[in-house]
Amino acid sequence: MKLEFFGAAAEVTGSCHVLHIGGYKVLLDCGLIQGSRKDEARNRDPFPFEASKIDAVVLSHAHLDHCGRLPLLVKRGFKGPIYAQEASCELVAILLADAAHLAERDAEYQTRKTGKKVKPLYTFAEGEHVIRQLQPRKYREVFEVVNGVKVRFRDAGHILGSCSVEAWLKDNDRESKIVFSGDLGQYDTPILKDPEPIDHADVVLMESTYGGRRHREREETMAELGEILTSERSRRGNILIPAFSIGRSQEIMYQLGKHYDEWNLERFQIFLDSPMAIEASKVYWENTGLYDEEATRLRQENGGMPLLPNLKLSRRPEESMEINRIRSGAIVIAGSGMCNGGRIIHHLKYNLEREETQVLITGYQAIGSLGRRLVNGEKTVRIHGRTIPVRATIHTVGGLSAHGDQDDLARWYECMENRPPVYLVHGEVEAQEDFKTYLSARNGAKVHLPKPGDFLKL
Ligand SMILES: [Zn+2]
Repeated sequence: MKLEFFGAAAEVTGSCHVLHIGGYKVLLDCGLIQGSRKDEARNRDPFPFEASKIDAVVLSHAHLDHCGRLPLLVKRGFKGPIYAQEASCELVAILLADAAHLAERDAEYQTRKTGKKVKPLYTFAEGEHVIRQLQPRKYREVFEVVNGVKVRFRDAGHILGSCSVEAWLKDNDRESKIVFSGDLGQYDTPILKDPEPIDHADVVLMESTYGGRRHREREETMAELGEILTSERSRRGNILIPAFSIGRSQEIMYQLGKHYDEWNLERFQIFLDSPMAIEASKVYWENTGLYDEEATRLRQENGGMPLLPNLKLSRRPEESMEINRIRSGAIVIAGSGMCNGGRIIHHLKYNLEREETQVLITGYQAIGSLGRRLVNGEKTVRIHGRTIPVRATIHTVGGLSAHGDQDDLARWYECMENRPPVYLVHGEVEAQEDFKTYLSARNGAKVHLPKPGDFLKL
């Protein structure tokens, strides 16, 4: 029995690990590498295993950096089941359809630009093939993945349907329990329940995106958001919020709805400019059984969600283009979350050079992404072949992260009283080093930082 680290080892995106047991191979996640064009080109590389020899996939949640290479896996010969939580399956279908659509459009653009035929990473039809192999499972249900591997999904509190994975492994007379944290949410995150405690493991694979820092208190973040939105300045220009279509968009709408009167939001036109986020929101607003107490109560009091009377859903491209004529008073929530593509790019193109514009960065921005360059304060950026001066104010609103910080991660780990050895994945090396120091000083945990290609004997 062994585990092979492949993707998201010593980096954040491209989550993928291979479990070898009794002649079977099971993948934990099959994520897309995201960031600069150069990084993203690695998505086309062959897998370090034969896709047709993989027996099953266990999927932690519906974010592209965890499931975005599934269409390639299927295209290259994987025929087995893909296990994911029920709501996660609905979201994966929406996500992959959109990703394939964007990949097709990007290939067309590259073909025009270079004069050479560029093939999309995968097509819409190839994205759809994945859906047929999805096997929805409930939280806390124990199920067999292959002979010798039983799995149980636990709520990870990161996005709707997100899971930590408990896996019981049995090979001849050897037994072992491995826990894969998946992406862990913050405690007291809106809408979602807290990450569920797991009381024991022999070994833990843990994400470490924000292992090196502490988020601001949520109240402080809300106060900051309120200040930005109620300021005199916010009336003069537009406010752009790049947001992941799944998770962040719904959380922002929820917060805007919750503070609607307090922040005097009726002065704005609020746009959810993303067909995918609109679809994902339906899944969010329908899966009421997965809500935390506050969301359940708000929903009962208001007879539904979201609670934004001036919200406009913009589905068609023409509707999105219309928004670009607005000079002030628009709040635009659009993908992609790291400004790597999607409709937010167009809004940035029209608004970044305007001093009265404000951009709210509310999530993780991978190295090399346009969002990261904005956060780093670059004075000009290139969009669609044009150099655009950045005169807008870029606010980094850290406390909204869908990822737990140092304390959240430690709190989740410390539910396991036996303090199992930890293998950190899904983090930049600096954050991992920090978290390693922090966690081992706090409770004596043995912490390892695996590299791609490393093996862990179980
Ligand atoms: Zn995630």
